[in-house]
Amino acid sequence: MTDAINIAELKELSVSLLKGVGAKRSSALAGFEVESLFDLLTYYPRRYIDRTKEAKISEMIPGSEASLLVTVEKTDVRRIRGGKSLVTSTVTDGTALLKLTFFNQNWRQKQLVEGRQAMIYGKVDLYRGQRQMTNPVVDLVGNRTGRVIPVYPQSEKSGLHTWDITEWVAEALRRTLPPKGRGFVDPLSDQILSEHDLVSRDFAFRAIHQPENMFEVTQARKRLIFDELFRMQLALVLRKRAIERTEVGAAHQISGPLIKQFKANLPFELTGAQVKVIGEIEYDLARSVPMHRLLQGDVGAGKTLVAIAAMLTAVDSGHQAALMAPTEVLAEQHLVGIRKLLDGMTVTDDSSLFKDRPIKVELLSNRVSTVDKKRILSQLLLGEIDIAIGTHALIQESVSFDSLGVVVIDEQHRFGVEQRSILREKSRSGLSPDMLVMTATPIPRTAAMTVYGDLDVSILDELPPGRTPIDTKWVRSSANFTEPEATAAPEELDEMWDQVRAQVSAGRQVYIVCPLIDESEKLSVASAEETYEYLQHTELSELQVGLLHGRISPADKDLTMDSFRAGKLDVLVATTVIEVGVDVPNATIMVILDADRFGIAQLHQLRGRVGRGSHRSQCWLVSDPTTPEGEARMAALVASTDGFELAEVDLDLRGEGTILGERQKGRNDLKLASLRRDRNTVVEARNCAIKVVDSDPGLESNEHLASELESFLEEGDAEFLLKN
Ligand code: ADP
Ligand code: MG
Repeated sequence: MTDAINIAELKELSVSLLKGVGAKRSSALAGFEVESLFDLLTYYPRRYIDRTKEAKISEMIPGSEASLLVTVEKTDVRRIRGGKSLVTSTVTDGTALLKLTFFNQNWRQKQLVEGRQAMIYGKVDLYRGQRQMTNPVVDLVGNRTGRVIPVYPQSEKSGLHTWDITEWVAEALRRTLPPKGRGFVDPLSDQILSEHDLVSRDFAFRAIHQPENMFEVTQARKRLIFDELFRMQLALVLRKRAIERTEVGAAHQISGPLIKQFKANLPFELTGAQVKVIGEIEYDLARSVPMHRLLQGDVGAGKTLVAIAAMLTAVDSGHQAALMAPTEVLAEQHLVGIRKLLDGMTVTDDSSLFKDRPIKVELLSNRVSTVDKKRILSQLLLGEIDIAIGTHALIQESVSFDSLGVVVIDEQHRFGVEQRSILREKSRSGLSPDMLVMTATPIPRTAAMTVYGDLDVSILDELPPGRTPIDTKWVRSSANFTEPEATAAPEELDEMWDQVRAQVSAGRQVYIVCPLIDESEKLSVASAEETYEYLQHTELSELQVGLLHGRISPADKDLTMDSFRAGKLDVLVATTVIEVGVDVPNATIMVILDADRFGIAQLHQLRGRVGRGSHRSQCWLVSDPTTPEGEARMAALVASTDGFELAEVDLDLRGEGTILGERQKGRNDLKLASLRRDRNTVVEARNCAIKVVDSDPGLESNEHLASELESFLEEGDAEFLLKN
């Protein structure tokens, strides 16, 4: 018996080998990115026409919608009033005649040629006693006989018809599947197939294109979706294991004196989630395999404490730690907070008289003076600084550590993969640091498995006790206050300003976030200034109002922030510069103007600036959305304060493209699978990939799997994942 066909071979065979595919059609197909037989066989139907569900013209009730399979009898075009044209076509399904009418679509005459079969969808009306459809949707299907007819995505302009594709696919299947063909290699073992209840690949490729019934389509899809997700997870798991094999890190001592002291000194109990996550991290740290862990936690869940615990473990073990924040403000805030928490702690130091010295935490940012910077750099290299906190400045070339044990990256979305690898090389010890990446914009677990599939994921899904939930209200109104006719819902707006004034007179403070204008900073600044002017002279004329935006000098910005922190300002009007990090527990109202211009994650972040103290907080979304999606986002924010729940909604609304896009460029071969719809399969595929890789790290006894994966990977990747 000859060998079965694998995907690599299928990718080598050109569609021009098929009967009827000449140069012209090859290039039309190339327009859909269909060049090889593999491309063609994975050019999946957009939908199916299930003829067992088909209606009959004679049974149609006027006013109802239906899909009908018809044959064209004749088509005419004529001019009507106003220089327009009217195409009328008479069609039949053998039970009765039906008239189709199209306005100004002359090209229909060429489409609806006598004798052609078409599937039509639309509403049937009675016009002068005759059944007719106006502007129905038309799919030409060719003279197909099957009971389920596939409809392929194609545009009429390409000159290709869905039945052309059907025919070529049929020929490709005839020549590849038994009895004439050799059949496809199935890289999945019988055990995996039966465990996951999957059909064979031969069956799947045939049934997705030529199903006998819709159940076969379901089975075929299940298998093909699994294949896509499994290949993706296999690559991710292999990458993870390969990194683990090639890098050596420190095996840290856990539960050392510093960490014990730190836990004992905390003014509160750790939450259950914090205990669990710190445990997961300690497990990683104790091993010499470097940690690569993503910590997802909602705003205010207490990620900083977890980060400190990880860093102290490094210091306890005689190494250093670094914390990298996305902005100067955040880095400075971390410095203050962490110094306070570690106040009075000491580390052993044999060179000192008392054999110990105070733990040393330093800031390295672009605002540090040249003199200080020089000192800090040399102390870092000598190991005299235990914890370095900073921004991008931490990964500059001039920075080296004596022995960097743990790196924490806060708010990962601003840091790329390359920057992570630079950090790895910063240590004189030659050890790869353990890495913890923290994010406050959670993405759903299954998406994280794919987007960050080479990281382990920990989740802080519990807020510290005593938080008062934030009340979120949506005022359906434009925020264009200067044009009163544009603002609806005046009573609700009045109520909102009443609340603002009431909270201020109770001693609380308020943020007002101005609309984001088309990503343009200049316009956003203008709108913030306008809003500030307007409010000062109207609603908030009695209050102390400050203004903060990206064009204000750093010195003035600091001044404004300091006054707000000190309570000298009642209200802060700002652009999104306050999105991350600002921490003023006395602030209890967040007003977001034209809120529908922001994404769910950003709104949730902004809202997280309040509700940080013991006082009850409110968030007001002022917005008159222009799209259903905008409405859905407002409704979601009102309905939930749970970041993970919101992340699911976000994924549903935006689709996975946006999430995948950031990190999976070129690695995305998902044609059928969807990270949202197929959530469960993502988990199944990942577990299956872990099982396979852990029992066969180089895929040596899974050669079909290895060669299939190789045909999907870039050259360098394949080398790294499979050959080392
Ligand atoms: P995140 O970085 O996850 O948004 P933080 O680490 O800044 O959250 O913590 C938010 C606030 O909650 C801080 O003031 C912190 O001191 C406090 N906090 C953290 N953990 C606990 C806990 N277990 N109990 C009470 N308060 C906590
Ligand atoms: Mg934080």
